[in-house]
Amino acid sequence: MMGTLVDVVLYADSGAASKAAGQAFERILHVEAVAHPSDEGSPLFAVRQGKGAKVEGDLARILEAAMEVSRASSGAFDPTLGEVVYLWGFGRDDPHLPDPEEVKRALDNAGYDRVATGQCCPEGQALWFDLGGVAKGYAVDDAVRVLEEAGVKAGIVNAGGDLRSFGVRPRRGYWKIGVQDPDNPQELAGVLEIKEAAVATSGDYQRYFKAGDIRYHHILDPATGYPAHSGLRGTTVIAPDCATADALATAVFVMGPEKGLALLEGWEDAEGVLIADDGTIRTTSGIGKGGIKFEKR
Ligand code: AMP
Ligand code: MG
Repeated sequence: MMGTLVDVVLYADSGAASKAAGQAFERILHVEAVAHPSDEGSPLFAVRQGKGAKVEGDLARILEAAMEVSRASSGAFDPTLGEVVYLWGFGRDDPHLPDPEEVKRALDNAGYDRVATGQCCPEGQALWFDLGGVAKGYAVDDAVRVLEEAGVKAGIVNAGGDLRSFGVRPRRGYWKIGVQDPDNPQELAGVLEIKEAAVATSGDYQRYFKAGDIRYHHILDPATGYPAHSGLRGTTVIAPDCATADALATAVFVMGPEKGLALLEGWEDAEGVLIADDGTIRTTSGIGKGGIKFEKR
């Protein structure tokens, strides 16, 4: 689901747990259909064609989380890059080098600052949204909400590394979360310890293709329409909700170590682990306090 493997661990009676897990997976499928529609009658298709749409419910909440991070990052996170992402073929079967002229034209038609607060999306304004940098996190949050409503006391929902834990884990009381080594993703660069929190990671090793000797990855710099080279290879963000953690991780990846750390330090309740091109690891000042620990491997 959401282009990855979703894993749910629950602490409850086994009957209640499997019923609740089923409901959580249904919610994730629903969010996937809203955020990555294949149905041409869906709101995001109408907006793409400039027909306008009333955006409400899940879609409104996903866009709200996205736009908050877009504004705070001055557009390093930009959910309107849909056409540019499409030209690169990320998310489809055949990622490839796009025609530079087409990238330029698609970038001219994009821009988070065209999304007016509270009035998304009026008729006559065509915007191609790609919510791949935030929707997975939102789906995790929504699954956790369903599980809590079903009376599950503790657990973790993990969508391919973007995850959220809730409640108090029996016996241990905390969760250990591995942070992948970008150079060798089967290995860990370190281990996080969290209690109730969301964790999301963006990395240049997650989705990429090679042309000649060059690796092109899926996180684009909205200033150029090409893969971001900010000095970072991996960004892991810890926050109370996973939609915010997801969008922030993508934003910080594009912004680079200095600006990225500043964004996280200024964001209430967000922390981060940043892995630079040379493997150096930097963490925000709140790690080691308030129940979040990080240990390098
Ligand atoms: P993530 O894996 O959460 O970092 O998100 C990467 C995905 O978000 C890509 O596969 C694209 O669908 C989309 N994306 C790429 N670049 C950006 C960007 N600068 N801002 C927002 N979304 C992006
Ligand atoms: Mg993200």
